[in-house]
Amino acid sequence: MSAKVLIVEDEAPLAEMLRYNLESEGFRVSHAETGEEALILLDEDRPDLVVLDWMLPGVSGIELCRRLRSKPDSRNVPILMLTARGEESDRIRGLSTGADDYVVKPFSLPELMARVKAILRRTSPDRVAEVIKIGDIELDRAAHRVTRGLRQVRLGPTEFRLLEFLMESSGRVLSRTQLLDGVWGRDAFVDERTVDVHIGRLRKALIRGNERDPIRTVRSAGYVFGDA
Ligand code: CA
Repeated sequence: MSAKVLIVEDEAPLAEMLRYNLESEGFRVSHAETGEEALILLDEDRPDLVVLDWMLPGVSGIELCRRLRSKPDSRNVPILMLTARGEESDRIRGLSTGADDYVVKPFSLPELMARVKAILRRTSPDRVAEVIKIGDIELDRAAHRVTRGLRQVRLGPTEFRLLEFLMESSGRVLSRTQLLDGVWGRDAFVDERTVDVHIGRLRKALIRGNERDPIRTVRSAGYVFGDA
């Protein structure tokens, strides 16, 4: 059974974009435009994750977060908060809102999807596919094993996470900043050139003989796994 995500967002185009992308990754999606509507949906069918906008008409995202955390049956539901750049994002860091994570608008889709999956891997490991297979490369999250064809590929922990992140966003160009955020974490003091170094190591481990390079460098943009 795939994971169920509840989107609470009053901006219709953004909610639609999120629904489309989450559904195309195999998630089941429901949507509420207001906090009140979200509370009704949450009572009917508990989602595995709530993507919650901070700025909502009526009950605000922050208030909804607080209410969910105060009720025993929704205390543990994972929440990913969407905040606007500026004051709110600074305040949310200081406030212990109870959200599991947050992204700052305008966010990039790969970053949001990576955070959604990171939360679900932690909170609902059985709902997230353990094996990602693209072409002849297979990554097994549970076993921490990568194979190319019949050959086992030995990777260090950073290269493993880098490959996982690239494969999860396959077909999308990821900038070095997005890779740093997704693989090293947004607070890591790592230079963007570090990404290039680890991409180099990853390629070296993945490619034998005349095998095709599965990672494409997109000049002045970043890297993409597979064909963009
Ligand atoms: Ca809003």
